Amino acid sequence: MKNETNTEQICPKCGQYYVAPPALSRTDNKTLICSDCGIREAYESIGFNHEEQDMILSTIRTKQNAYSCHQITKYYNAPV
Ligand SMILES: [Zn+2]
Repeated sequence: MKNETNTEQICPKCGQYYVAPPALSRTDNKTLICSDCGIREAYESIGFNHEEQDMILSTIRTKQNAYSCHQITKYYNAPV
């Protein structure tokens, strides 16, 4: 897709800036949205409420941060 880049974009759904590759909105199947909104739409479609979506997103971010720390530690060969 032409607009799928890692440049800074504004999500039309939540209005936040994002740089990660966009997600395709499930509502119209053509609007590019941030990955958080993409995850929310996916979980909303299977019945998770907003609070459950927040919990899932929080867990994903924690795991991503842990992975990033692991990679940095591995790179510098030093304990965290
Ligand atoms: Zn968004």
